[in-house]
Amino acid sequence: MSKKVVVFPGSFDPFTNGHYDIAKRALKTFDELIISVVDNPSKKSLFSLDERCHIIEKVFEDSNQKVRVMTFSGLLVNHLKDVGTKVILRGLRAISDFDYEAQMALVNMHLGGDVETLFMMAREENSYISSTLIKQIVPYGGDVSRLVPKAVLKALLLKFNPNS
Ligand code: ADP
Repeated sequence: MSKKVVVFPGSFDPFTNGHYDIAKRALKTFDELIISVVDNPSKKSLFSLDERCHIIEKVFEDSNQKVRVMTFSGLLVNHLKDVGTKVILRGLRAISDFDYEAQMALVNMHLGGDVETLFMMAREENSYISSTLIKQIVPYGGDVSRLVPKAVLKALLLKFNPNS
């Protein structure tokens, strides 16, 4: 039987406990999870593409090679072809995520033929976590240790206090 591979695409700037939970839950259903960090130079990011990949690799360093971290630019459907899967994973928080996610899922279906987007609901306790929120709290010394994985916290503290 062929391996069930799913691509989890996103900006992950930075990767949060919300992303982590979606990834871990997907691993129960799929044989391999590819976390695909989008290279979008027109969107200003806190962490560089390389930094984001490196941090996510650290988060999953004990995951028995079931998780692969990649980058992609351009159309997601082309990236799916490159890695040989037709399944996209996305997380859904509140209703506010729905319009954008539905639009992306439909456009990817249009462009990719039989490409499917699977959605997983955010756990209630993660439903308010966003990368944007993290980036707004940390510069002012707010504690995000329960909102992001340890490797991410370390990278955030280094980014904002490079001399500590
Ligand atoms: P993008 O810029 O592509 O939306 P993000 O890194 O913001 O990238 O999000 C990647 C995916 O993770 C999206 O499907 C988003 O809805 C989902 N996501 C973001 N935050 C959470 C969370 N707290 N819980 C569950 N899913 C989340």
